[in-house]
Amino acid sequence: MDPVKNLIGLSRQELTDEMAAIGEKPFRAKQLWHWMYNRGETDFARMSSIAKVMQARLEEQYVVARPKASRELQSMDGTRKWLFSFGDGNEAETVYIPDIDEERGAVCISSQVGCTLTCRFCHTGTQRLVRNLTAAEIIGQFMAARDSYSEWPTPDDGGRQLSNIVMMGMGEPLYNFDSVATALKIAMDGDGIGISRRRITLSTSGVVPMMARCGEELGVNLAVSLHAVTDEIRDRIMPINKKYPLAELMQACRDYPGASNARRITFEYVMLKGVNDSAADARALVALLKGLPAKVNLIPFNPWPGAEFECPAVAEIKRFSDIVQDAGYSAPIRSPRGRDIFAACGQLRSESKREPRPADA
Ligand code: SAH
Ligand code: SF4
Repeated sequence: MDPVKNLIGLSRQELTDEMAAIGEKPFRAKQLWHWMYNRGETDFARMSSIAKVMQARLEEQYVVARPKASRELQSMDGTRKWLFSFGDGNEAETVYIPDIDEERGAVCISSQVGCTLTCRFCHTGTQRLVRNLTAAEIIGQFMAARDSYSEWPTPDDGGRQLSNIVMMGMGEPLYNFDSVATALKIAMDGDGIGISRRRITLSTSGVVPMMARCGEELGVNLAVSLHAVTDEIRDRIMPINKKYPLAELMQACRDYPGASNARRITFEYVMLKGVNDSAADARALVALLKGLPAKVNLIPFNPWPGAEFECPAVAEIKRFSDIVQDAGYSAPIRSPRGRDIFAACGQLRSESKREPRPADA
């Protein structure tokens, strides 16, 4: 058996099986779950409801490990960003965005190191996919963020700074669905971290065949990175559109399990000057959303070195927003958060590179 297996990231069933394999009853898994995910404990010796002999045995075979922060930055607006380093040295970024005026906020989690997709406006898209993150690394980002705010044991819902999760960091979560699903199920478990599915949003660039499973298995809120209203423009700025064009994407949204007027799908729309920001685009967006329980998030383009786009003037964005709102859809203009530390939407990236395969070397 691997002498340093991490217990974080195992599903409840996997943890129970792991304990069974060393001759322990299911209640051991239950105890461990509580210590790890409710109390945030990482040291077996402090798990006081577990007998000393058993603590020592666990310590020989397992660890309760988090990714390590290799850099931590705080923005002038309170946004915080961590560069986390995983066991093999690969790195990804995580961001905490506190709500202004309120004692709560969202942790923005990465699902991959880099991304296979190459959306032209996105900094992550300039980094090739290095690898998928494991369930342990995905939930570990959230737990490490909670460590920073000393938010253990799990406070009641309502009394938490880290109240929401958004799968909107580096990578395409629906291209790493199994690990994302395991991690989010751990986050939602009421005996542990206890974040309701209503406080979790998963953002996809439009991986159509995976959307229904996301709704059925996880029931989390869906955000779709739309960004263009014609296939011609979307093909150009989001190459995934060539695989899953707009008509298919909108149908998958219509079919998304659990979407209703009370739980609307969020359509993210990055405002790119002269590309997708005209009044005609706004009207076409309204036509596209017809009949869907939808809301729109207008994201002013966040610049990064080498980007080929510009952010439109405020008046242009406002005009776009007004057209969509007049048609009955909520369409707030997101104020950029954490731009000064490169923590805003689309600005995340790490230096990790894929090892050349022996054949390439
Ligand atoms: N890969 C998933 C999750 C990332 S979410 C997805 O694409 O949906 C990050 C959000 O920020 C996405 O909506 C993305 O399209 C948007 N984004 C990317 N680059 C941006 C930029 N430079 N400025 C503003 N938003 C950007
Ligand atoms: Fe990947 Fe999303 Fe960035 Fe596109 S916008 S490159 S899918 S992280």
